[in-house]
Amino acid sequence: MTTASAPTGVASFHDILRIAGCRHHFPLLRQLVNGKPLVYFDNAATSQKPQVVIDAMVRYYETENSNIHRGVHYLSERATQAYEGVRTKVRDFMHAEDQREIVFVRGATEAINLVAHSFGRRYVHAGDEILVSEMEHHSNIVPWQILCEELGATLKVIPMNDRGELLVEEYERLLSEKTKIVAVTHVSNALGTVNPIKELVARAHARGIPVLVDGAQAVPHIRVDVQDLDCDFYAFSAHKMFGPTGVGVLYGKRKWLEEMPPYQGGGDMIKSVTFEKTTYNDLPYKFEAGTPNIGGGIGLGAAIDYLHEIDLNAIQQLEHDLLFYATEKILTIPGVRIIGTAQQKAGVLSFTMQGIHPHDIGPILDLEGVAIRTGHHCAQPVMKHFGVPATARASFALYNTKEEVDAFIKALHKVIEVLG
Ligand code: PMP
Repeated sequence: MTTASAPTGVASFHDILRIAGCRHHFPLLRQLVNGKPLVYFDNAATSQKPQVVIDAMVRYYETENSNIHRGVHYLSERATQAYEGVRTKVRDFMHAEDQREIVFVRGATEAINLVAHSFGRRYVHAGDEILVSEMEHHSNIVPWQILCEELGATLKVIPMNDRGELLVEEYERLLSEKTKIVAVTHVSNALGTVNPIKELVARAHARGIPVLVDGAQAVPHIRVDVQDLDCDFYAFSAHKMFGPTGVGVLYGKRKWLEEMPPYQGGGDMIKSVTFEKTTYNDLPYKFEAGTPNIGGGIGLGAAIDYLHEIDLNAIQQLEHDLLFYATEKILTIPGVRIIGTAQQKAGVLSFTMQGIHPHDIGPILDLEGVAIRTGHHCAQPVMKHFGVPATARASFALYNTKEEVDAFIKALHKVIEVLG
């Protein structure tokens, strides 16, 4: 986590050195783009993968590949052990109480859809309300909207201020006996805001309302402790935290997961099937129909090991300094407006340039080897709030450096030369 206001000093010098040396763990970063050293600032979209993650997946396919849970042969047992071992790693990574609370899914999007469908079908009825925030990614809006349309429930929105911070008093006002669930992001992908999840959860729980946290942008930056947050559900994708695409996690408190109906039907999620009646498997398998992304799961396990090696506290410190540095530098460029100036920010610098469409910034930066993202970042309500069609977004990860920020700033000056 980082604030754009001032650097702090939590991590040890030793930790910082360990991180500074980690860039060479990422083979993709060694390439030139358009003849320039690649500056990869599109980490909020997806992060790059360290060699250990790539190797773990190759090793799995070379030596262990087999289907899991059902096999009685050597390879199947090895693959099952490896895959279930990752569940234990995820449990420890999130500090969940029980590994039955860890459901493997395709990513954050599927995790949220799972809860919307399953929890929604069991607990939400016509006239009820679901509370999301104004800064949500579309994947934490649309599944709830679909549910509301189907059931005749209403989607309510927690507003934010012009710094991109949620209005907690407004939130309190919106909570009522009609509210069936609160679904809110830990870190905004469009603004970088880190939300006060513990407080939001406590206020909802005071009224007996469960909370789902979209952690897609938090896990690569912040140490997440689901017991400390006391959230009821927590969703994330492996690919934003140095793991592969196509795999992610839904954490859910057992008391909810036990009660919730299955999300999808198929192999592995059943105990017995007859045409008259099917009984469902125990947790977490009840929610894991079909052959999962086993190789991806192995990659996620390797990414968690890697993050342990590096130390998340040290990552926070480094990214904090980088964001502070980039924020100071970008504000020296005439006509730049930063979108998202919350006190608590992590890893994201969203901005516009006066008189230049954000979509025109990206291609010029690309010619300089700098990869950023331009667009609405799947958060159109955020764009609406700030009265912009889109923003340019630089997003940082543990392998980024101040020298890269300098190259990015130089490239922005080129944008002004060409288009300004
Ligand atoms: N929530 C947030 C805050 C995100 O940034 C993203 C990805 N941009 C998602 C959810 C969806 O993640 P995925 O596409 O990996 O399912």
